Amino acid sequence: MVSRVIPVDPFDLVIFGGTGDLARRKILPGLYRRFWDGQMPPEARIIGAARSEMDEASYRAFVRDAVTEFVSKRKCDSELLDQFIERLSYVAVDARGEDGWEQLAGMMRDGVVKAYYFSVGPSLFGDIAERLHRFKIADDDARIVVEKPFGHNLETARALNATLARHFDETQIYRIDHYLGKETVQNLMAVRFGNMLFEPLWNAQYVDHIQITVAETVGVGGRGDYYDRSGAMRDMVQNHLMQLLCLTAMEPPSKFDPDAVRDEKLKVIRALEPVEPHDIVRGQYRSKDESYLVDVENKDSLTESFVAMKVHIANWRWNGTPFYLRTGKRMKERVSEIVVRFKEPPHSIFEEDTGQSANELTIRLQPNEGMDLTVTIKEPGPGGMRLIDVPLDMTFAEALGEEAADVPDAYERLIMDVIRGNQTLFMRGDEVEAAWAWTDPIINGWEAREDKPKPYEPGSTGPEEALILLHKDERRWRELRA
Ligand code: NAP
Repeated sequence: MVSRVIPVDPFDLVIFGGTGDLARRKILPGLYRRFWDGQMPPEARIIGAARSEMDEASYRAFVRDAVTEFVSKRKCDSELLDQFIERLSYVAVDARGEDGWEQLAGMMRDGVVKAYYFSVGPSLFGDIAERLHRFKIADDDARIVVEKPFGHNLETARALNATLARHFDETQIYRIDHYLGKETVQNLMAVRFGNMLFEPLWNAQYVDHIQITVAETVGVGGRGDYYDRSGAMRDMVQNHLMQLLCLTAMEPPSKFDPDAVRDEKLKVIRALEPVEPHDIVRGQYRSKDESYLVDVENKDSLTESFVAMKVHIANWRWNGTPFYLRTGKRMKERVSEIVVRFKEPPHSIFEEDTGQSANELTIRLQPNEGMDLTVTIKEPGPGGMRLIDVPLDMTFAEALGEEAADVPDAYERLIMDVIRGNQTLFMRGDEVEAAWAWTDPIINGWEAREDKPKPYEPGSTGPEEALILLHKDERRWRELRA
């Protein structure tokens, strides 16, 4: 396949937290893949910044190890890796102190795009923004990339927005939600708005319900302390599931432009109805061998590692069509997907029990990014009119070939969008605040009631109550497979 990669403009990218876990696993390997693909111009430079004293050679060795560990062997061509490594420098900077900032200022070049990735804890975002401004390191065209979590609730998100706004214009702020960088998420928009087939049916008249699942098989791992202060609602629903919900439910934007898309997403969030306590299930994985409470070292924790809920959008398009959301850790299958379940045909001309059922469009974000649509056909062969459901499968790897399916990881795609100055796939400040305004009352209600999460077996589909949530509506979740 011919590469369609267009190089971006020359840039200086500073990664604050350039020695951290996210930089090592995602950002630096992703940048190398963009380099390998020819998207990074020869003049591009990457500067790692953190408190640790480290010389350039040690940082380069650190990045080489990270690339070798996280990039496929096929792409770790030693000559190309050497060329990439030459682009790297390091500066020791304390986000809260004064050391290192003059040196960083001296390293930045004129006439190139300047981007600053805040891959550090959120408590440092304000300190870094203030120093970038005070040491005149960031010009009016500079961009800052801000990691999650963006606030802990509406109040802290507002305060963070206000802090950043003191030094940067909204057009310079890139709030990252890596789910938006996934190929299939963008394909969701291509499918909805690039075809005539789906959009006329994409409403309450034809859609029975929509399910959004983001399930992980892992537990809280080494992030127990952070996770226990956050929980599934803050860590996953307020951001990732909310974004998927918005892209699925939004009206067609007038064009594929940052504000047009984000205006439509914001309207969806604002149209979300409050969730009643009986429409939401919280869970915590727990068995005699493995327990969330042990993993987070807090035997009294009331934080949820699982949440499932029924959500309604109060507008013309979706009146009466529920959206069911669920996410959890230590579940049976690692999967992120959106399932659009259409209504059954209003009248069957075939005899009863022929096997006919409703069409289902599944948009799979991971693993095996792709889509499939179930359609009902006649079972081949004689013996009458028996109907069966067959999938029209569009796994990218199969439909487009392995090479085309070897799509950039979300992080690398989003970083290139930052360099290009394209904010379409980043969250705007008002969107984040609206999402918190909807989730805050739910979380505050749990805290006020000291709501106890329901236990569920690690490696399962979550608490039984989550299954009942759909059974009550005579529906069921798409089955998770081990
Ligand atoms: P981490 O492994 O703890 O790394 C933190 C980085 O920040 C290190 O490079 C550290 O280096 C640097 N740092 C800490 N204090 C500093 C200071 N005062 N001044 C300058 N640098 C400082 O954290 P992480 O997992 O990479 O996470 C970074 C950010 O990404 C967080 O906001 C996190 O919520 C977000 N995030 C991470 C992941 C993930 O998978 N890791 C996923 C989603 C979001 P020194 O100690 O040498 O200063």
